[in-house]
Amino acid sequence: MARNLAERVAQLRPSATVEMTEKVRAARAAGRRILALNSGDPGIPTDPRIIEAAHRGMLAGDTRYAPAPGTPALREAIAARETGRTGIAREAGDVLVTPGGKFALLTALMATVQAGDEVIIPAPGWVSYEPCVRLCGGVPVALPMLDRIDPERLASLVTPRTVAIVLNSPVNPTGRTLSQADMDAVTEIAERHDLWIVFDQVYSDLVHAPAFPMPHGTPEGRARTFVVDSFSKTFGMTGWRLGYLAMPPGLAKTVIRFMQHSVYCLPGFIQAAGAVALSLYDELVPGYRETFRRKQLRVAQRLNAIPGIACTAPDASFYLFPHIGTDDRMVAARWLEELDVATIPGSAFGEAGAGHLRMSVTAGEAEIEEALDRIAAAGVPR
Ligand code: PLP
Repeated sequence: MARNLAERVAQLRPSATVEMTEKVRAARAAGRRILALNSGDPGIPTDPRIIEAAHRGMLAGDTRYAPAPGTPALREAIAARETGRTGIAREAGDVLVTPGGKFALLTALMATVQAGDEVIIPAPGWVSYEPCVRLCGGVPVALPMLDRIDPERLASLVTPRTVAIVLNSPVNPTGRTLSQADMDAVTEIAERHDLWIVFDQVYSDLVHAPAFPMPHGTPEGRARTFVVDSFSKTFGMTGWRLGYLAMPPGLAKTVIRFMQHSVYCLPGFIQAAGAVALSLYDELVPGYRETFRRKQLRVAQRLNAIPGIACTAPDASFYLFPHIGTDDRMVAARWLEELDVATIPGSAFGEAGAGHLRMSVTAGEAEIEEALDRIAAAGVPR
């Protein structure tokens, strides 16, 4: 009998969203036609011009190690995008290109969390926050915040061991953006207690609201905020594994050591494709955003017509988080078994999400309509 694996991995909970994706894959392989309202993949085919850029790069020999922090061209393009968004100049030297937003998050936590340190994470919140904090030896502390952040509650969770607050807007799973008041409260508390902020904005290109509040929108906030972002959701590039970490000035030269000794670098041809993606932003992204918006409004309207379901259309992303007022795990399991409709139970994002389901509008319109027809006909099981 071989030795036990390290607790670091053995004790991690499997990702509930990945598990549902696997269940759907297995059911489809067994010949079932599953209507997928569970996916976190935007379902957008990558634009052919982005693919061609990668192809050109590979044929031109850009297939060797690339600079560990990212290619100068892509770091410049990301810095320009961040500068444009906040109005505060962002240096390319403060940006690291990472394999997806997930690794940007892990890098930020690796750089800030020591063994036993506490990190405040949103609840309900994306399934990887807690495991990533634990992988860094930290202790996750859940902040319940279904709609808004309660500053007093947040302040009450800060202890002498707290080092960082993870903030996510637009929020996965609710699909909502946090308000300026939320940002002000978090930055004020972070300043008072000298905490880092790790801000995950991977859905920030899919905001329908007129404004997008963020903690790095002020020089004080910028000085303590690690910004996690990704090409996955914006450009339909989930499989490319391309994201970035924009950090407070001057830290990248130290933080890069973690990347140098782990993934080392992103393939140059993928970074070349990323730069082309950013250059096509104005042409591509507004259309994606409008499509998601239209589908979210339609789904919210149809869900609200079903007894027992209450759903506000979120102001961002491609998710909805309807309240179903009963055991969400039971409902998700029964809809999958009986209706072939896949959703994610809200409690998969932490107990604060119980009584909700996360649904996404990444499938085609006909598939979504059919799923809603089945849900409307069957009703919410009690
Ligand atoms: N952050 C949130 C809130 C997400 O929902 C996801 C993906 O589902 C990610 C980060 C990471 O995305 P990626 O690693 O594909 O960039």
